[in-house]
Amino acid sequence: MNQSTDITAASASHFNQNILSWFHQQGRKHLPWQQNKTPYRVWISEIMLQQTQVATVIPYYQRFMESFPTITDLANADEDNVLHHWTGLGYYARARNLHKAAKIIRDEYRGKFPEHIEQVVALPGIGRSTAGAILSLSLKQHHAILDGNVKRVLARYYLVEGHNAQAKFEKALWPIAEALTPKKEVEHFNQAMMDMGAMICTRTKPLCQQCPVMAGCLAFAANEQANFPQKKPKKTTPVRQTIMVIPRLNNQVLMKKRPPAGIWGGLYCFLEIEQTAALNQTLADYGLVVEKTTKLTEFRHTFSHFHLDIEPILVDCTLSTNNLINEPAQYKWYKLDDSNTLGLAASTCKILAEINELVLL
Ligand code: SF4
Repeated sequence: MNQSTDITAASASHFNQNILSWFHQQGRKHLPWQQNKTPYRVWISEIMLQQTQVATVIPYYQRFMESFPTITDLANADEDNVLHHWTGLGYYARARNLHKAAKIIRDEYRGKFPEHIEQVVALPGIGRSTAGAILSLSLKQHHAILDGNVKRVLARYYLVEGHNAQAKFEKALWPIAEALTPKKEVEHFNQAMMDMGAMICTRTKPLCQQCPVMAGCLAFAANEQANFPQKKPKKTTPVRQTIMVIPRLNNQVLMKKRPPAGIWGGLYCFLEIEQTAALNQTLADYGLVVEKTTKLTEFRHTFSHFHLDIEPILVDCTLSTNNLINEPAQYKWYKLDDSNTLGLAASTCKILAEINELVLL
């Protein structure tokens, strides 16, 4: 059944009036990106909020906006500095795309965020829903949104079958979102739908008794909330192993910038080897002589599609040659007792914290 064809103007109006009155009483209105709203401020918040909770995002957002108050400031920043502001937030492609898009806006739009949805979705890292959110929340343009929270509310309200990884699920939901989105107060309605999904129609144990649209919700009537959206069929997550080598020299550790694509793209990480037998030769290639090795705590880092079991080894070294590294731009001696401005993955920070603890012992 195509539910959107069944949504009359009257039922859409009933739905959005209930959502709007709830928003006026209970919606979130005091978050940092809801003050002095501009497309740039909303854009940064929308990207940070993908896959990340509001409470985690707030301090990152504030630091980011202090360092890069305008799109041009962001565009002119060094990529390492942008990634440094993202350290710990994960999904680093988001930061690289923000930086790329800021350069496009600086060069093609004279630093002013574009105001046509086609121009916005053409920017790296911005999909249809994010573009709609930016333009509706900051400029009150009439666009529907369909982020994970909104998908959940609509799938339950109309019992739309499917799960988030299916294109047909999204295809079925867009016309519904469009039919329900009002022309007036679109900025409040879209914010309310995101808040509803985050605060009331939560993934587990939705608070249906506090829901402003409970009376019309098909999942509530059928007691089917837990089954909508459906769960993505489980696949066993593969496990990979790596040995991370951390050469230490004069209280500095050697890191290498990773290529832009792939995991931890563009971040500085430790060297990796497949077998400990390769340790001495690998460091010799860098002009380093192994003096002492210390096994650090092994741990597992989980990515969206695999687990990575990491075995870190701290290696105290001496220099065998001044000709240390062929491509200096990709390598950095990271000062352990200094404030650095590099983008680091959470697992790199974890290893650094252990090394710093060892230094204090
Ligand atoms: S009644 Fe429950 S399941 Fe339905 S939209 Fe509201 S919170 Fe979600």
